[in-house]
Amino acid sequence: MSIMNTMILSCVKATRLMEMKEHVPLGFLKTMQLHMHTAMCSGCRNYMSQSQLINELLQKKFSVVPEVEDTDELEALILEKLR
Ligand SMILES: [Zn+2]
Repeated sequence: MSIMNTMILSCVKATRLMEMKEHVPLGFLKTMQLHMHTAMCSGCRNYMSQSQLINELLQKKFSVVPEVEDTDELEALILEKLR
């Protein structure tokens, strides 16, 4: 496999890495692959900015962690927030 085949990602793989990046560090090779892909692909740049906006809004919405005594009360609060 050539170095270009290694470095060029499909859009599906690029978006998968974007979502992974939100939860775990990607490492050097995957970070470079993602950087190269988003430098060339406007669709994935749009996806990344929209995904970051959604994550920020969700963090704001659910940032307050209520203190609850039991899981039924917590479940009711979660269901209430989702409405
Ligand atoms: Zn793409």
